[in-house]
Amino acid sequence: MKHMLLAGLLFIFAGCSSSSAVDARVSTISGSEDEASPLQQKQWLHGSADCLLNKQQPIDIFRFDQSSYILRQNKCLNFEAPFIYLLIGTEKALVLDTGATESADEFPLYETVRTLIKQQAGQAGTIEKEILVIHSHSHSDHYAGDPQFAGKPNVTLVEPNSRAMMHFFDFNDWPVSVVNIELGQRKLTIIPTPGHQEEAITIFDAQTKWLLTGDTFYPGFIYVKNWQDYQHSVARLVEFTQSHEVSYVLGAHIEMTAADGVYYPIGTMYQPNEADLALTPEHLLALDLELKKLDEPEQIIFNDFIVTPMNIFQKTLSNIARWIFQ
Ligand SMILES: [Zn+2]
Ligand SMILES: [Zn+2]
Repeated sequence: MKHMLLAGLLFIFAGCSSSSAVDARVSTISGSEDEASPLQQKQWLHGSADCLLNKQQPIDIFRFDQSSYILRQNKCLNFEAPFIYLLIGTEKALVLDTGATESADEFPLYETVRTLIKQQAGQAGTIEKEILVIHSHSHSDHYAGDPQFAGKPNVTLVEPNSRAMMHFFDFNDWPVSVVNIELGQRKLTIIPTPGHQEEAITIFDAQTKWLLTGDTFYPGFIYVKNWQDYQHSVARLVEFTQSHEVSYVLGAHIEMTAADGVYYPIGTMYQPNEADLALTPEHLLALDLELKKLDEPEQIIFNDFIVTPMNIFQKTLSNIARWIFQ
């Protein structure tokens, strides 16, 4: 509930900030001519006009390759409908975020993850892999499912707060240094990306070449708490994409419609015409260029995402929530 309350309050205050959208900068980037990949063609479960009648499964599962999965929480369970990533190596399986619902009855994330890991292991499935649970950042729509994993055998759960996260990754020089972790024949790079939230991180997976950006960058209405940190984070991500081949930039929500620059308001339970999940390094570069032109925080509307500074009320609420829950 706490995130519902916070989201509701953010919604109220968002009304104040979006009224200045007449001044918003509008920027477009050219689309790709390439044929759409299965990931781009994927139609996600996107809620229902009447969630009481919704019989769809609580978790939509997309198998990208035999050891990489994208899971999406059903919008009828929680309007945030966050995306969760499961990356399986030969020794460990990484779960990035645990969704917006705690109840295993309503939202059986732990069981789903275990089933997928077993399926992937096939005959070798008798050997239990370590499940490593980390978070893109410490907003509750990304960690509500943690209690399902807590205390389970072979689970390492990194708590969603700055202290636990810094302790686990042991960054040399936050936010400019990166950390590599090994899942067994699968290397991940953890990149600090504060801005949307203080301890936000981005994960690069060398196998799929995905850049997993959480709420730092996704096809939606992206709130930025610390504008300067965000500018630097986006610049570092662009630098990273210039020295590494990145296939897709994948975030944690879809809030844009398929129409240019148009988003579903916060709280929407039904998104029949939503945008694609997958963004690209070109989108990041376009954002970086716009951010570098600005002297002051200002809303920027792109066709495929919108970046907006939090106002003073939203920042205060965020600080209170952080003080209470961390
Ligand atoms: Zn979120
Ligand atoms: Zn967030």
